[in-house]
Parts: sequence; C-alpha cells; structure tokens
Amino acid sequence: MRKPIIAGNWKMYKTMDEAVSFMDALAGKLKDSDASETVICPPAPYLATLVEKSKGLPIQIGAQTMHENAEGAFTGEVSPAMLQSIGAKYVILGHSERRQYYNETDEAVNRKVKAAFEYNLTPIVCVGETLEQREANETSAIVSDQVKKAFAEIDEANAAKAVVAYEPIWAIGTGRTATAEDANEVCAKIRSVLTDLYSGPVAQSIRIQYGGSVKPANIEELLSMSDIDGALVGGASLDPESFAALAEAG
Ligand code: 13P
Repeated sequence: MRKPIIAGNWKMYKTMDEAVSFMDALAGKLKDSDASETVICPPAPYLATLVEKSKGLPIQIGAQTMHENAEGAFTGEVSPAMLQSIGAKYVILGHSERRQYYNETDEAVNRKVKAAFEYNLTPIVCVGETLEQREANETSAIVSDQVKKAFAEIDEANAAKAVVAYEPIWAIGTGRTATAEDANEVCAKIRSVLTDLYSGPVAQSIRIQYGGSVKPANIEELLSMSDIDGALVGGASLDPESFAALAEAG
C-alpha cells in the first residue's frame, strides 16, 4: 500500500508573519495519523522557521527548488546541503514554472534528483504537458520522456523513495482540473514507465501525485483513483482551513 502524500506548494506567496500564523492555525486542525503524509513547501526564507514550528506536528517541510551543487559561487541559490542542514525533508524539482521561467531542463532536473538523494532529501519530481501538447495527443510521450530523463541513473533503492507529481500545465492555477479519469490515465502511464525502469515492487511503491487546481471539493475523487497517491496543491494550500481539509482527505 502506498501512503498518500498531500503537499502544499506555496510558490511566492505569504510574508513571514502569515507563514507563522498559518502554521499556528494548522496545528490544531491536523490529526496525527500514520495513514498519510503532509508536507508544506514554503518560500526559502521561511524554511528554517517552519521546520522549527513543525516539530511535534504531523507535518514535514520541503523546499520548492534547489541548486544541484552542495556549495559554490552561485549568488542567490540554495543548496541541497543547506536544506539538509536546516531539517527540510522534501524538495520539489522540475516544477513547470521552474522549467518555463528558469529554463530548467530535463537534464538539470536529473542532476538535482541525484543531488537530493545525496543529501537525504525526498524529491517531488514534477512532470506535465502543455495544452498544445495535450491537444496534439502528445501527453503520454511528453510525460514518459520527462520521467525517463528525471530518473536516469537513479538506482532502485533511491527511486523507491521518490515522489512524482503529474501536473498538467493547463490545469495549474486555472481552475481547470483534469478529470479524475484523465489524471489517473496519465499517472498509470507514469507507473508503466517506472515499471520499465525498475522492478515491479519498486515501481508499485513510488507515489504519484496529481497537481492542478486541487481543492477540498475534488480531492476525494482524485484520491480514489488507482494510480493517484496524493496531491501537489498550489492555491488551496495557502489557507489553513482548506489545506487541513486536503490533508484530512489524504
Ligand atoms: P494550483 O493548485 O494553484 O493549480 O497549483 C498547482 C501547482 O502548481 C502545485 O505545484
């Protein structure tokens, strides 16, 4: 059985005060349960504070991106070693916004996935097609290629720990969710690619999230699907009430 994982990606939202208030509000609302995992990925300046605030709560903290090197002259960047040193447990890699605005290539994502494992961080590897690609029936080919490239030279032991997030770009922040069936079809395709790369038990153990306009009203249907093991949530993760409802569904 795969443990559902609900992760909030705050993107570039909230001040420090708002981030702290969110954690205080969420604290009372989350049930301590082993049945699912809950992750918050705040902007980098709040990571260390939120790691401290999360202690004793059923919640892990992750970063939204990172550099592939442990250290170096890379002004403005945050390294995997730094994330490990503050107690972050997850890192979102290859989000479509990083690919689109910061030219993150499949090869760079692969290097970052390797670096994440080196520093004991669990990567949430994002893949997904554009609207044009979907309309041209290229979804399966595009997403398969992104998964193969992200997992190049990742061994079984590490792959088993990874999380994949399928986020169709046309569904991000648009209010347009993929139907649960469409989302599940792509997630099942991702699992079949993982089955080509790894042994059956490993491919079966890798968790695949859906992301794109997930909210309390649609999460249960999405999670009921055979190959959807959680959600990567943007907008609806910003409000403690709605994020608690999403975590509860996990
Ligand atoms: P929304 O939930 O706002 O559509 O964002 C999805 C996303 O990009 C999460 O990483």
